[in-house]
Amino acid sequence: MLQTRGFALIVSAPSGTGKTTLTRHLMATQPNIALSVSTTTRGARPGEEEGTHYFFVDKNRFETRIEQGCFLEWAEVFGNYYGTDRGFVKEHIEAGHVVLLDIDWQGARQIRDNMDAHDVVSIFIAPPAQDKLEIRLRGRKTDSEEVIQKRMQQAAAEFSHWDEFDYVVVNDDLAQAKVELSAVLVAERLRRGRMQATIQPILKTFA
Ligand code: 5GP
Repeated sequence: MLQTRGFALIVSAPSGTGKTTLTRHLMATQPNIALSVSTTTRGARPGEEEGTHYFFVDKNRFETRIEQGCFLEWAEVFGNYYGTDRGFVKEHIEAGHVVLLDIDWQGARQIRDNMDAHDVVSIFIAPPAQDKLEIRLRGRKTDSEEVIQKRMQQAAAEFSHWDEFDYVVVNDDLAQAKVELSAVLVAERLRRGRMQATIQPILKTFA
C-alpha cells in the first residue's frame, strides 16, 4: 500500500510574535501533526516540562549528540544550544505526518540544506511592527530586562531572513493569522505529489 508522505513544516518568527499560540492552534485543529520537541542546553522556564517543551540536557551531552549525528540541525541561540532530532522527523514524515518545527532561521536553513526539498515547507511569522513586538515581550513577564534587550536584537536579526521562507504570515490580527497558517498547511497537504496514495485507489475504480 502506498503511504502518503508527510512533510516538515518549519515555523519561524522573532520571539514574541505569537508563534507558540499559532502553532498550538494548528496542533489543536488539524489532524496528524507531530510537534518536534527540540533538545536544548538552556534551563527550563517556570511551567516548562521535560519532553513536552524541550528535552533539557547539559552542554557535554549536547556536544556528544552533535558528534553522533543525532541532530538534523542545531544552532546556538542566546548562548544556548538548540537541536532537532533527526530520527523523530524522518519517522513521522514516513508515517504521513506533518512535523512541526519551531526553529529559528539558522535551523531552517540547515533543514533546507539537509533534507529533500519536497519534504520541507517553511513559514515566516512576522509581527506587525517592532514596537508591538516589544510590548508583547514585556507582557510575557518571563524574562529580565537584559534578556528582553537581547531578544529585541535577535528579533531584528531573525526578521532580516524573512525572504528565505516559502510563506509569510503577518500576525496583526490573531484570528486572521490562524486562518492563514491553517490555509498553508491544508494546501500543502493537497499538493499533487502528496496525493498519490489517496488517488490510486480512486483511479482503480475507473479502470
Ligand atoms: P526559547 O529559548 O525562547 O524557547 O527559544 C529561543 C529560540 O530558539 C527561538 O527562536 C526558537 O525558534 C529557537 N529554537 C528552538 N528550538 C530550536 C531547534 O531545535 N533548533 C533551532 N535551530 N532553533 C531552535
